[in-house]
Amino acid sequence: MKRITHWIDGKPFVGDAERHGKVFDPSTGVQSSEVDFASDAEVDAAVAAAKAAFPAWRATSLAKRTNALFALRELVVVHASDIGDLIVSEHGKVKSDAAGEVARGLEVVEFACGIAQLMKGEFSENASTGVNVHSLRQPLGVVAGITPFNFPAMVPMWMFPLAIATGNTFVPKPSEKDPSASMFLAELVAEAGVPNGVFNVVQGDRVAVDRILTHPDIAAVSFVGSTNVARHIYETAAHEGKRVQALCGAKNHMVVLPDADLGDAADAAISAGFGSAGERCMAASVLVAVGGCGDELVERIKSRVAHLTVGPGTNPASEMGPLVTSEHRDRVESYLGVGESEGAKIAIDGRDHDISGDPGGYWLGPCLIDNVTEDMKVYTDEIFGPVLSLVRVDTLDDALGLIDRNGYGNGAAIFTGDGGAAQRFETEVDAGMVGINVAIPVPVAYYSFGGWNSSLFGDLHVYGPDGVKFYTRGKAVTSRWQNIGQHHASLSFPSATPSDRAKPQGT
Ligand code: NAD
Repeated sequence: MKRITHWIDGKPFVGDAERHGKVFDPSTGVQSSEVDFASDAEVDAAVAAAKAAFPAWRATSLAKRTNALFALRELVVVHASDIGDLIVSEHGKVKSDAAGEVARGLEVVEFACGIAQLMKGEFSENASTGVNVHSLRQPLGVVAGITPFNFPAMVPMWMFPLAIATGNTFVPKPSEKDPSASMFLAELVAEAGVPNGVFNVVQGDRVAVDRILTHPDIAAVSFVGSTNVARHIYETAAHEGKRVQALCGAKNHMVVLPDADLGDAADAAISAGFGSAGERCMAASVLVAVGGCGDELVERIKSRVAHLTVGPGTNPASEMGPLVTSEHRDRVESYLGVGESEGAKIAIDGRDHDISGDPGGYWLGPCLIDNVTEDMKVYTDEIFGPVLSLVRVDTLDDALGLIDRNGYGNGAAIFTGDGGAAQRFETEVDAGMVGINVAIPVPVAYYSFGGWNSSLFGDLHVYGPDGVKFYTRGKAVTSRWQNIGQHHASLSFPSATPSDRAKPQGT
């Protein structure tokens, strides 16, 4: 049985793990490997390696750090398909979707290649007579990342390229469900010439996470995962004095106005609702049909979904793969019964969908639950599977109110041909990422990704300009090299000299 270990100080770390997890191929239900679970001692070893590597890495020139990132960029491009295969084998998503995941992670590496520009400070000459002021951005030290199962390559790549480009050293703790992609990325980081100890990986579960949260040598924690865990991460790490960003669960609404191209909107709902089997934090999970366009949307979605190929990610014909574990599959499926008992109507029952895969896989076809209302659990809970709820409302105001009351605020989208309605939606909608005729509005790498309300705890979003800010802290330097040696002690608070403040002549 393949064993997946940690990566510490530039090489695999084979300790005496007392606890292990099982990793499965979700398309067959067969265990593919065993992953070591770190104890406190192994987390401590990774953090010690990262701490030891920090002084030399932060002193490494921007030019050298940039070279390493360019080398990493080339290696990710060359190995994109290998990373994709690992994602398919442990997560279950289809190969084209895995390729998209790698491409979106690669974007952040490319953004980080511009670190010399991104780290620039500001300079003010002669702020007071002979006094200059400039600002610096400096790394924090050792930072940790705790990542979810649903993007085993992309989410670590949201974090570590900028974390290390800015001069920090990094310790990610990937999801125990699909840990191999992070190990492969660690090999590529080493091959790119990043020194040992700058990038380490600890595998494990909440034991490793809890050690990370309280470790005195970790300065900051980036987390992506579910909302309850995010709250624990945020509260514990902040209590320990760490900087934290915790991105979490979602219930993303896709609003369709009656003037939209309904064929387009139905296609978008299918890709955003059922892509990656709905296991995306930006998946559309609530379709909001405004002003009576619900029936036509349901019919269009039904006719297209009937032809969707659900099967293993290794088959190029598959459009949707299995769910990640059998427990998760069962939990997602249970919402069909919950919805029915609450009075909703199963318009598309994924349990009946033809599956072209191994019967041992964790399959559930695309599901559409109609006549969902705001008080139902299928509406309030994050289901995180291929289950789309349809809520019917009368007006755009109703749709905006629904989103506002929902509690989450990750993404929201509107489909319309009316520019005025779209502009109003953009201004008023209570969400951090907005799509206009775009169902999955994940920002490109030079903007930042993050939700509002219960979709993010912390102040700064991930990657993009916020990513640079999160992994650095600012310093302002005030300097004087003129009039040295005048030996005049003044106890008044330093400020601009009276002559600097004098009124301009003639006033
Ligand atoms: P999860 O919260 O179960 O796990 C995330 C990480 O936390 C994993 O590394 C896991 O090992 C660890 N963890 C789990 N339980 C823990 C506990 N009790 N204490 C400490 N650590 C714990 O999430 P998941 O199921 O892997 O991922 C799906 C969730 O992630 C969904 O809620 C989804 O919306 C969210 N997500 C959010 C974003 C975003 O950017 N907002 C992106 C991707 C996924």
